[in-house]
Amino acid sequence: MNKTQLKKIRDTLVKKQTLVFDQLTKSQKNQAFKFNDLYKTFLDQSKTEREATRQIVKTARDNGFVNIDTLISKNLTPKSSKKYQTKKVYKVFQDRCVALAVLGKDSLVKGANIIASHLDSPRLDLKQNPVYEDLSMGLLKTHYYGGIRKYHWLAVPLALHGTIVTANGTMDITIGESLDDPVFTVTDLLPHLAGKLQANKKLSEAFEGEKLNLIAGSIPLGGKKEKDRFKLGVLNLLYEKYKITEEDFVSAEIEAVPAEKARDIGFDRSMIGSYGQDDRVCAYTSFKAILDTLSCDRTAVALFFDKEEIGSEGSSGAKSNFLEDFMSDLLFIRGQDMGNRSLRKALINSSCLSADVNAAMDPDFKGVHEEMNAAKLGFGVCMTKFTGVGGKSGSSDASAEFVGKIRQIFNKNKIVWQTGELGKIDEGGGGTVAKFLAKFGMNVLDCGPAVLSMHSPFEISSKADVYMTYLGYKAFYTDNDSDHNFGHDSGNNFGNGK
Ligand SMILES: [Zn+2]
Repeated sequence: MNKTQLKKIRDTLVKKQTLVFDQLTKSQKNQAFKFNDLYKTFLDQSKTEREATRQIVKTARDNGFVNIDTLISKNLTPKSSKKYQTKKVYKVFQDRCVALAVLGKDSLVKGANIIASHLDSPRLDLKQNPVYEDLSMGLLKTHYYGGIRKYHWLAVPLALHGTIVTANGTMDITIGESLDDPVFTVTDLLPHLAGKLQANKKLSEAFEGEKLNLIAGSIPLGGKKEKDRFKLGVLNLLYEKYKITEEDFVSAEIEAVPAEKARDIGFDRSMIGSYGQDDRVCAYTSFKAILDTLSCDRTAVALFFDKEEIGSEGSSGAKSNFLEDFMSDLLFIRGQDMGNRSLRKALINSSCLSADVNAAMDPDFKGVHEEMNAAKLGFGVCMTKFTGVGGKSGSSDASAEFVGKIRQIFNKNKIVWQTGELGKIDEGGGGTVAKFLAKFGMNVLDCGPAVLSMHSPFEISSKADVYMTYLGYKAFYTDNDSDHNFGHDSGNNFGNGK
């Protein structure tokens, strides 16, 4: 066999792995960088799930999305009202989870194209009785949220973001984001004395959750004989500035998050370092994708959940009824609400990308990955067929048919994609919202960019991957080949839409 024949065989048979920067033209690269500048602004303005919700809703409204609850309460469905000739609706739940939809031409009973991400990120939450004093300092107790490596949170500047329900109403606070603001921090032990307590211990035992306390002040209130005067100093300032009392913390959600802004990484500025990219990178890219979806056959839905980092529990997590509620509202305003069966069919006929990050292979920690099946930074949006631990336990394993469908959409639209597993089989693992959507019977595939230093206060993404993820999500929304159902009952024998 000659060289030309061999090359032909290689070119035809061997799977190609494309580096996004090898494929982008100069102008596409500029577009990608511009897109990422906006993404960085979103990250800086959205350090909590509530803030991300506010940003999404504000921009959605500016882009013509209408509150579906308002439409329904005023009986102003897009069909019935001249005032609301909108195809674009949104719904907010508990100020911390959001759904957007662009109504498609097809009947919703045939299913929607859904992209589901989450807005919450690991952090330190203030406890309900946080304020105390020790060694002439005022301190705040925290209880960490989500999977953190505790040592990441020591000796770094932290900002407080949150919502407090007082006797006089609800207020939001942000302290530590402006350069003039004070910040808060958890102390760490000096290396000279860390031998017994940290250095010689197993990493999992060297840092205790109860020691993640924030320094909050050191000027006392009152004279030397005054009891608890450092705690009193903190409480007094809180009252002077925000009119909050110690009891108000009971009904507060205050999160300590890294005070740093999103930054470019590298001489070539090709990457972004920031807190909260898991999963606001998927939230932002799917949000931009649905904003840019001007018309579609299948209804496009973007879901932004809370509580993924603690197992999707609670009324705002993916295990809740939020999606069913939103879908029945959509059926209602489309005049396709024929009861429970139409809702079930709309859900089972839907296709879903579970938009979450995967772990990129790390040059310093290659050993935890199986190289042939690990995602790498810069190689495009990553399809993760299954997550889970050990033998795929706890995972929603996407069907070959659905992976094939998404692969076909991506290839057709020149989206650079790769596949990934979350580490070596016996190394560990994790999960996403995928299985909580798959329970409705819809096809679900995990799909998002890979990041380095995942769950750290400074996660790293590739600008090329962020941009490809956005383009990939947009292609998924606007794909007009309606063959999404792979043998499901399409349910199109009823429902009065097209
Ligand atoms: Zn995530």
